[in-house]
Amino acid sequence: MPPLAFVVHKHRATQLHYDFRLELAGVLLSWAVPKGPSLIPSQKRLAVQVDDHELAYGGFEGTLSKDGYGGGAVMIWDCGTWEPTSKDGRDAAEDYRRGRLSFVLRGEKLKGRWHLMRSNAGDRKSWLLFKGADAEARRTGSIVDEAPLSVVSGRTLEQISGAATAP
Ligand code: MN
Repeated sequence: MPPLAFVVHKHRATQLHYDFRLELAGVLLSWAVPKGPSLIPSQKRLAVQVDDHELAYGGFEGTLSKDGYGGGAVMIWDCGTWEPTSKDGRDAAEDYRRGRLSFVLRGEKLKGRWHLMRSNAGDRKSWLLFKGADAEARRTGSIVDEAPLSVVSGRTLEQISGAATAP
């Protein structure tokens, strides 16, 4: 099986958020993560599931029209491949239906073991995204603050939206 893609879009719509996307069965499963991912395992980030996106959208960086996914500037904040690490021989699609996905990310900013677990509280769209305890985990810091730029273009969101002023 070819590697599965993952992408994290940094998206300034009405509110800045991060869209965490995993390729599965020909689509990008997608979650909006208001605070973005954290490398600190105890920082479990709310991830609100949104509509699946088409695979090609994973390569998009630019400015959305007002009627496209909320409008605003979209950055490819991280991308790479992911690999489900199911136990008991279950496949990733079954783990997804159960609301318990464990996987390895191979990106530039996000690496190692991660978990996406559907929250028992609230509706079925609420999940938690958090880092597994491994050598890539950290005790302090904020990866979204320390590494704010696009991994494909090196641009800021302001530069992507065209709002940056020339020096
Ligand atoms: Mn978004």
